Amino acid sequence: MSTAPEHAAGTVPGAAVDPYALDREGLEALVADRGQPRYRADQIHAWLVRGVDDPAEMTDLPTALRGELATRFAPTRPELVAHTVADDGHTHKLLLRFPDGEAIETVLMLYPDRATVCISTQAGCAMGCPFCATGQAGFRRQLTAGEVVRQVVVADAALRSGAVGEAHLPDGAPSRVTNVVFMGMGEPLANLPATLATVRWLHDPDGFNLSARGITVSTVGLVPGIRQLAALGLPVTLAVSLHAATDALRDDLVPVNRQHPLAEVEEVMAEYRRTTNRRVSIEWCLIGDVNDDAEQADHLGAIARRLRAHVNVIPMNPTPGVRWKEPTRARTTAFVDRVRHRGAAITLRDTRGRDADAACGQLLASYTLGAGTRLPAAVGAADRVDAGLSLPTLQRQATDAPARPVGSSDAPDQGRGT
Ligand code: SAH
Ligand code: SF4
Repeated sequence: MSTAPEHAAGTVPGAAVDPYALDREGLEALVADRGQPRYRADQIHAWLVRGVDDPAEMTDLPTALRGELATRFAPTRPELVAHTVADDGHTHKLLLRFPDGEAIETVLMLYPDRATVCISTQAGCAMGCPFCATGQAGFRRQLTAGEVVRQVVVADAALRSGAVGEAHLPDGAPSRVTNVVFMGMGEPLANLPATLATVRWLHDPDGFNLSARGITVSTVGLVPGIRQLAALGLPVTLAVSLHAATDALRDDLVPVNRQHPLAEVEEVMAEYRRTTNRRVSIEWCLIGDVNDDAEQADHLGAIARRLRAHVNVIPMNPTPGVRWKEPTRARTTAFVDRVRHRGAAITLRDTRGRDADAACGQLLASYTLGAGTRLPAAVGAADRVDAGLSLPTLQRQATDAPARPVGSSDAPDQGRGT
């Protein structure tokens, strides 16, 4: 766990702080400490929102205050290490390196009606999902709130300055960030202080002023974190990365399932929906011959229908060191049709989605790993899944009951879509 200052409440008096780690109250406390009127906090806030964090450039502040802030602010400005352009210039992957050498990635996706930034919350990830490049590399450290917010600042500044995508912007495309998805590296709900502080910054009407609906937090299903996100009282979109609809398979594909099994995850998703009145999403990374069979489709369809959740299917992106592949076109179509026939809303991400959203984690992997490198962390889990699948697939599908009870997903016809 990081001991770096992550939000206003966690700042140590007198210690240097990343200005983006301060929320409105934190800025107000900072100026009050210096005997300055409250509106100075508004002025600083306005600069930060425009991407200016150097007090010397905050020209409407008194010179003395600028000098004091310069000693107090310790910005964690990242260096742009690599910038990869995909999808005809509509997708920009930015590899950013912080002063301590940690590199993370941020992806900017341009659409005719929106500009979406995919942000990271951790350097690496401790969750160990065996199909994910980030998961294989393991956990390195938490990002501070400042480091998370700054990814949006960098992407927004690049977009506004025309440095990114100007030649490719579809007519009428926004020249500011309109949507943010927490789908980059790391597990957002395993870094709650930074995630919640970032959501507040993004939603603050005097800040980035993004609609809560335009903010999506993706999680493997950390139940206490989902409750805390709901407690924010904002209709932020919650996406849960399910990937398996029986505990037997999910225990290995998403190892944290052993702490929070499917029934518990489903319950908290229902609770989130009730509290926020917001439809939840289910993410499903479709892996050839691993989670693309009829049994999984049926259980997934039942869960999604009970929750009235929207399922997003992402064919797996091949990742260095991962033996699995994306499914065939025929199996993909059969899977999606089967889930849909169970009464669930389901979308197969297009190539664009594959290149962009699903590729979070891929840029860093190709930057740091040689092709074919296999990292040990996820290999054991992959072995177990393959061992389980060595039973003929047909035999598995013919079995009525899953290997162990899966709570509410065992009763697919209960609580049909309401
Ligand atoms: N840790 C969070 C958020 C980051 S991952 C989570 O897992 O939800 C964002 C999405 O990318 C997740 O749904 C994840 O399952 C998916 N993903 C990871 N590796 C992938 C791969 N190789 N191919 C396709 N999607 C992948
Ligand atoms: Fe972490 Fe998400 Fe990757 Fe799993 S899929 S290892 S939770 S980043």
